[in-house]
Amino acid sequence: MVLSDNIKNMFASFAPETQRAMDRYTSFRVGGSADLLMLPQTVEQVIALVKIAHKAELPVTIIGGGTNILISDNGIRGLVMVLTRLKQKIEQTKPSINTDDESPDQIYLTALAGESLGRLCRYAADAGLTGLAWAAGIPGTIGGAVMMNAGAFGWDMSQIVKQIEILDLATLETMVLPVNDLQFSYRKLALENSIVLKVRLGLTKADTGTVRDEFYRNLKTKQSTQPVSQASAGCFFKNPPGDKSAGFLIEQAGMKRARCNGAMVSDLHANFIVNHGNACAKDILNLAGQVRKRVYEKFGINLKKEVKTIGD
Ligand SMILES: Cc1cc2nc3c(=O)[nH]c(=O)nc-3n(C[C@H](O)[C@H](O)[C@H](O)COP(=O)(O)OP(=O)(O)OC[C@H]3O[C@@H](n4cnc5c(N)ncnc54)[C@H](O)[C@@H]3O)c2cc1C
Repeated sequence: MVLSDNIKNMFASFAPETQRAMDRYTSFRVGGSADLLMLPQTVEQVIALVKIAHKAELPVTIIGGGTNILISDNGIRGLVMVLTRLKQKIEQTKPSINTDDESPDQIYLTALAGESLGRLCRYAADAGLTGLAWAAGIPGTIGGAVMMNAGAFGWDMSQIVKQIEILDLATLETMVLPVNDLQFSYRKLALENSIVLKVRLGLTKADTGTVRDEFYRNLKTKQSTQPVSQASAGCFFKNPPGDKSAGFLIEQAGMKRARCNGAMVSDLHANFIVNHGNACAKDILNLAGQVRKRVYEKFGINLKKEVKTIGD
């Protein structure tokens, strides 16, 4: 979409990015251009930008670290906000008396949505706070981790999130939602049409050495079992119900190392599709379609995408 000068002027004081190619903002390294790209640094900027987009009748797309998304080769229409600069000092507090947290060892960590999950994880390990070491090595932002209910080693975000602050894109109001109002399920938070602005986690005081050991053990496991240095968006498909993982099914269906141009099913972890440098979104989707078909033919199981497809 070509934006009119009038619309461009409405956003001019926020200095939109001049390079709008979205491949730079996703770990898959593919994707066309955004009509309008902003990297806000404060909650106030996010709210102001949403209000202008609302007035200009532009759709708004939110991206965190871009590590669980596949952006279309045709790009994204309207305003795209990448939230990786939306951060401030991580805040550490104790719950006040009369909350429903009974343990005196419970500590809250509060961060803005753009804070890196990796940094929070390290912060917790160095502060001797247990409950987040499972996330060692998961890339992206804390806002994206909450939206995806990211998880590993039997843990996920739903077990440690205490509350979130959101901007409702319909009413343009901010509100604080306690965990009891949040519906988490496997790799999903049921939260439509909203931007996560701030996240509060509840962790527990423990021995620093023990938490650090767990953190590095998990990191090492991830690095040896996943192609972490290649361009991907993590697991492409959700694990289906039952005891067989998507990776196992894909491997048994003979799809390890299957290719479509620059896209390839990883030979280290069959649920990772990697971009060897020259894949486009179409190649990745094409390969994912072949994988899904072969798994269905062999096992009668319909794999569902974990990766979110975004754009035209
Ligand atoms: C090498 C590798 C390993 C991975 N390992 C794991 C793993 O072990 N476990 C796991 O669960 N995942 C894993 N992932 C996937 C991914 O890292 C997680 O899902 C991560 O939490 C996504 O965060 P993000 O900030 O990158 O979100 P993005 O990919 O930017 O966005 C994901 C979704 O959330 C939305 N979103 C993002 N931020 C906000 C916000 N603030 N408000 C509203 N909506 C928002 C986006 O619109 C999109 O729909 C891995 C990925 C890679 C590349």
